[in-house]
Amino acid sequence: DSKDFDREVESVCAYCGVGCQLSLKIKDDKVLYAEGIDGPANENRLCVKGRFGFDYIHHPHRLRKPLIRRDDAPPKGLNVEPDQIHTHFREATWDEALDVAANGMKGRGREVAGFGSAKCSNEEAYLFQKMIRQGFGHNNVDHCTRLCHASSVAALMENIGSGAVTATFNEIENADVAIIIGANPIENHPVAATYFKQFTKRGGKLIVMDPRGTALMRYASHMLQFKPGADVSMLNAIMHVIVEEGLYDRQYIEAMTDNWDAMKEHLKGFPPEEMSKICGIEPDVLRDVARTFADAQAGMIFWGMGVSQHIHGTDNSRCLISLALMTGHVGRPGTGLHPLRGQNNVQGASDAGLIPMFLPDMQPVTDDGVRKAFTDVWESEDFSSEKGLTVVEIMDAVHAGDIKSMYILGENPAMSDPDVDHARDALAKLDHLVVQDIFMTETANYADVILPSAAWYEKSGTVTNTNRQVQLGRAAVSPPGEAKEDWWIEVELAKRLGLGWTYTDPSEVFAEMKLNMKSFDNITWDRLQKTAVTYPSLSEDDPGQPIVFGDGFPRPEGRAKMTPASVIPPAEFPDEEYPFVLITGRQLEHWHTGSMTRRASVLDAVEPEANCSMHPKTLRALGVEPGDYIRLTTRRGSVRVMARSDRAVAEDNVFLPFAYVEAAANILTNSALDPYGKIPEFKFGAVRVEKA
Ligand code: SF4
Repeated sequence: DSKDFDREVESVCAYCGVGCQLSLKIKDDKVLYAEGIDGPANENRLCVKGRFGFDYIHHPHRLRKPLIRRDDAPPKGLNVEPDQIHTHFREATWDEALDVAANGMKGRGREVAGFGSAKCSNEEAYLFQKMIRQGFGHNNVDHCTRLCHASSVAALMENIGSGAVTATFNEIENADVAIIIGANPIENHPVAATYFKQFTKRGGKLIVMDPRGTALMRYASHMLQFKPGADVSMLNAIMHVIVEEGLYDRQYIEAMTDNWDAMKEHLKGFPPEEMSKICGIEPDVLRDVARTFADAQAGMIFWGMGVSQHIHGTDNSRCLISLALMTGHVGRPGTGLHPLRGQNNVQGASDAGLIPMFLPDMQPVTDDGVRKAFTDVWESEDFSSEKGLTVVEIMDAVHAGDIKSMYILGENPAMSDPDVDHARDALAKLDHLVVQDIFMTETANYADVILPSAAWYEKSGTVTNTNRQVQLGRAAVSPPGEAKEDWWIEVELAKRLGLGWTYTDPSEVFAEMKLNMKSFDNITWDRLQKTAVTYPSLSEDDPGQPIVFGDGFPRPEGRAKMTPASVIPPAEFPDEEYPFVLITGRQLEHWHTGSMTRRASVLDAVEPEANCSMHPKTLRALGVEPGDYIRLTTRRGSVRVMARSDRAVAEDNVFLPFAYVEAAANILTNSALDPYGKIPEFKFGAVRVEKA
């Protein structure tokens, strides 16, 4: 009802990588409600988070003033209750807080590391990485992609020369077969899932592969509930059949790819009959899936963190890439590779250079010419050509005494890192920690200086979704108290670090980004005021290219590569002491570490309590009723959580969502890393279950 609100502002949803456009209805500088509008990724649709999850921005816990740790504060720890903040911190002016924040980093070179945020704009991500590189001379800057799709990006860069999707998820409307593996889009990318359901309604064949049954399996022609960690054996067996039965696209392979002979030879060692014993899927099913996908006119592959978060995450993605290449399912309508991105701006933050091995547009820091192009624009000296440390490596470096000062913007490693007690101990050990956030997060508990920032709906900037669509987020309401936009805080800090930044608006930052980012060619701030643009855009009239690489890949001679992958076991196995497999993940109503959604009234009302899911037979065998409390224990730690019954969870598995601080899943998870993508093994741990 138009009488309900006094103005409306169009923006982009604050939550997931689908990037739904919405209209925020505002009265008295408060968001009353949100409605979907006709964005390229959502066509008026919103899920429960976009529709009802906005009121965290008005929560009384919002940080309103800069805070500095008191000299007489209790020892650092996860011990700051919302009503006892002033026991630990004192309010400060912006000038004082920025001076203290900058002085704790200034002149410390390699002792400083930074975590930027995929919840900020492209411009804010760009400024963050620029500050670390220009200000401290090295590349110790990373963000949540390291815990999300780092292994997928490593495999994509290696084999097709680009880390972004080759086709938008909407291209599924032109496909006749789609594989969705290690992803639960109905909960985690709900609006994208609506397109997947529509695809099946018009006869498309959906092949779902997941150790845990998901709601999408109701729409699937094939459901492969394989054993956790057995992805490579299953995918290699499918490709073995494609080779054995000659189902591959010889013409495409010859024209567009390298390494086919080695791949064919490698796959001989993975017959379905043998691999079935490892992955738990019948040979006949593996053969049928191979034929269905290879025979399709147009096939797509979507994947999520069930694929990426393993010590063999890069190998999992290598297999998916090879499967698409050998069947010629890349670069045409209805074909493509699409790792479904998590955060609303994880694609954009990665493109903007929040990565220790890449400058913006995934240009390697090791390349002298690339660094020079940036330092010419920045009018600054060269910085290190060494790849920086990644998220988990930075925490290890804190323990080793090599990193002593950190700047953390909008990330919450005290909840999100694997083996999180190790990360919490590292945060407590730092000499100096600056946290910039909207709430007193678990990580802010350990800060020396807290800089209160504007939430997504309180600031303006560009954002890039999973589809490579660049869109403009617009400030709808004012930040509370003295909270400021992240880019403003970054500029003020940089001035105090002596970097001479003079930006007065995000559009100036965007203009600078365009100088060294070809992905933004033909995309201007003015254009984005009117419309979203999918990169690459070939002219100022081109809305952008939903499908790329039809005529070659950004690799030598335009050819993609197939990299064989061998079976690497998980970093630990269940045994008598820890007999179950722990899988962690998300659920529809909550977002990542819970700092936003647990303060969103409707979402918190729907899912108010930490829970874990197990098969009813397993619960019965343990003498546990649904609703009882159980204790989960791994080699790293232990949590108490309410048990739920779920037939979709395999009998020897436990599924634990990670949004709840009172039962933080990452107390349990293993920090073992994929050697290529440096991503931790969140998706496999050995766990004991007891009645609590
Ligand atoms: Fe927001 Fe993602 Fe839901 Fe769209 S699908 S409304 S972007 S959370």
